[in-house]
Amino acid sequence: MIVTILSPKKVVKYYRFFGARHSILQLGYLIDFEVEDSGNFLPRVRSITHIGFPWIYDREKLMLWHRFISIFEPHFRDISDIDNFYFDLILNAANRWNRQSSKRLIVESYINILKYEGRILPINSCILCKQTIDSDLSLYDGFLPVHSSCSHLEPISYKALLKLFEDSSSIDLDDNSIDRLYLIALKGFLI
Ligand SMILES: [Zn+2]
Repeated sequence: MIVTILSPKKVVKYYRFFGARHSILQLGYLIDFEVEDSGNFLPRVRSITHIGFPWIYDREKLMLWHRFISIFEPHFRDISDIDNFYFDLILNAANRWNRQSSKRLIVESYINILKYEGRILPINSCILCKQTIDSDLSLYDGFLPVHSSCSHLEPISYKALLKLFEDSSSIDLDDNSIDRLYLIALKGFLI
């Protein structure tokens, strides 16, 4: 099988022999590993050691982690050199995954990535009608701001979203809004 490994500065594809004696390598694990040249094919990854987190055995937390990690595969698909921002962000989320709401961590990580990549638009202007947004604010894919009336999406508190956009804090958002923002984040990044 082919595995993709994110390290602080690289995204690399490796070949992984997959047999009965070899542990199953799943999505989103922090690993230590060795690489050996396999001749004319991709380098081979071996001697994999999983570095565990306390939430690994929590099915709900693990499922949310897999969903979170899934958004990065298409995002990193054609990249080989990368800034350590992404590795640090994902590791930071993993270290907090047990103590905080996973969905909130996904929403906060997502806004931090949008900011880092310069994909944030001011929330006071609707991308559909270009008019000012005072209160009836909703977010479209990629957290793009729209009037609720223009998009027919459920409104989200302007004040709570401003806090998220400015401070990357989800603290003022209610659980219903977090559920909706989490689903937007899972759609990944607009190209
Ligand atoms: Zn509008």
